Amino acid sequence: MRLSDPPAASYYADSAAASCLEFPPPARLALRGEFRADVAVIGGGIAGCSAALHLAKRGFSVAVLEARNVGYGASGRSGGQTIFGLAASQQAMIAQVGQDDARHLFDLSVEGLDLIQSLIRDYGIDCDYRPNHLHVAVKPRQLRELEQWAQELNEYAYCSVSLLDRQQLRAQVASDRYLGGLLDTRSGHLHPLKYTLGLARAAESLGVRIFENTQVLRYTDGAVIEVHAAEGIVRCKHLVFCGGAYLGKLAPTLSRRILGVGTYIIATQPLSAQRAQALLPGNAAVADINWVLDYFRLSADHRLLFGGRVSYSALEPRHLAESMRKRLLRVFPSLTDVKVDRAWGGYLDITMSRAPNFGRLANNVFYLQGFSGHGLVLTGLGGKLVAEAVAGTAERFDVFARIPHRDFPGGPILRRPSLVLAMLYYRLRDLL
Ligand SMILES: Cc1cc2nc3c(=O)[nH]c(=O)nc-3n(C[C@H](O)[C@H](O)[C@H](O)COP(=O)(O)OP(=O)(O)OC[C@H]3O[C@@H](n4cnc5c(N)ncnc54)[C@H](O)[C@@H]3O)c2cc1C
Repeated sequence: MRLSDPPAASYYADSAAASCLEFPPPARLALRGEFRADVAVIGGGIAGCSAALHLAKRGFSVAVLEARNVGYGASGRSGGQTIFGLAASQQAMIAQVGQDDARHLFDLSVEGLDLIQSLIRDYGIDCDYRPNHLHVAVKPRQLRELEQWAQELNEYAYCSVSLLDRQQLRAQVASDRYLGGLLDTRSGHLHPLKYTLGLARAAESLGVRIFENTQVLRYTDGAVIEVHAAEGIVRCKHLVFCGGAYLGKLAPTLSRRILGVGTYIIATQPLSAQRAQALLPGNAAVADINWVLDYFRLSADHRLLFGGRVSYSALEPRHLAESMRKRLLRVFPSLTDVKVDRAWGGYLDITMSRAPNFGRLANNVFYLQGFSGHGLVLTGLGGKLVAEAVAGTAERFDVFARIPHRDFPGGPILRRPSLVLAMLYYRLRDLL
C-alpha cells in the first residue's frame, strides 16, 4: 500500500463514522466551470480549514480546493497530541531568529493551544478533547534535557508544567521504560479527523465553499489569480497554499523546502475502561523525546493509539502492525494478549531546521507548511495568522515568515538519500 492511499484502515475513519450519522459525509461537489472568490485555499487539512474559517470571519469569500476529501492528509491521520511550542527547540529558534522573535513564536504557539479550545467551544466541535500531555525521558541525558526545558518554560512564565520524577511518572504512565517526565496540563489530545471535519463544517457555516476531489493542477499569478483544476477554474485575488506534505510539484519552491516522511500509528482493540485507566491514570497523551519517538494516548473508547517509526519511502513498511506492536510492548509488556485492530500511516512535512515554513510566493500568494510533525496546534494558528495577513495586518504572520529556511540539499534525486543519512545519525544518537 502506498502512503498516499486513503487511510482506509484508520481508527479515526471508523470512529468518525460510528459517532456521526453523516460519515462519510455526503461528498462535497468537485469544482466544475468557473468560480469566483476573494481567496482560494489549496488543501482541506487543519491549516486550510482554519485559514478558510478565519478569512470568512473577516468577511472574505473563500473557496477551498481539496484534491481528495477534507482530512485526507496528515490532519485526519495524526497522533492527536496538541502540544505547546514548535518541533524545533527553543534554543535553536533563539539561535536562528534572536531572543525576541523566539519568545514571540513561543507565545503564538500557546495562543494556538488556546485557539483549539475556543474553536471547539464556539463551533460545538465534538472531537473528544482531553487535557494533559507528558514528554518523557528514556535516558539519563534526557532527564537533564527535561529539567532544562522546565527551567526555560518557567522563565517564559509558562506555568502549567511540572517535572515528575520516576515514581511520580509511574503514577501517570504504568511503564518501567521512563525515568521521568514533564507534565503539561495546558496541552492535551483530541480526535484529529473529527476536529478537522468540525472545522470544515464551521467554515461552511460562515459561507466557505469547499470543493472535494478537486486537485489544483496549476495556477497563474497576477492581480487576478487563476487556479486551475481538471474541470474548473477559480478566479481570486489571493491564494493560500496549505497542501503540506501532499502538495507535490505544484509549487517547486515550496516542495524543495520540505521532505515528506512517513510515520505510523496502530490502534489496539478496545480495552476495558479499568485496564485502559490503569495504563494511563491521568489520561495524558505521552511522547518520548527521542528523535525517532514513540507517542501514545488513549482513545475515547479505551483503545491504546500508539505511534512511531519513520520511513523515507512512499510505500508503507512491510509487517507494519507487527513491528509497531513490538514497540508498544516495549512500553507496556502487559499488553501481549491485546490485538491490534488498525494500522495506518501518513506523511509529515519536515523542514531542514524543523521550524515551520510560512511565507509568500508573491504579494497575494501565501503559504503555510513545514510543521515537522508538530502541526496540530500551529496549523490552526497559521490559518488565523494568514487571514490577518490577507486582511493587511501581517505583523504576526511575519514573525513566522522571518524564520530562515534552506532547501534540502541534493536536488530531487539526492535529497532523500541525504536525509536518510542524517536520520541515521539521529537514530544512533537516540541509542546513546
Ligand atoms: C501519523 C501522523 C501523526 C502525527 N501526529 C501528530 C501529533 O500527535 N501532534 C501534532 O502536533 N502533529 C502531528 N502530526 C503532524 C500534523 O498532523 C500535521 O502537521 C498537520 O496535520 C498538517 O496539516 P496541514 O493542514 O498543513 O496538511 P494536511 O492535513 O496534510 O492537508 C493537506 C491537504 O492538501 C491537499 N492537497 C495537496 N495538494 C493539493 C492540490 N494540488 N490540490 C488540492 N488539494 C491538495 C491534500 O489532499 C491534503 O488533504 C502527525 C502527522 C502524521 C502523518
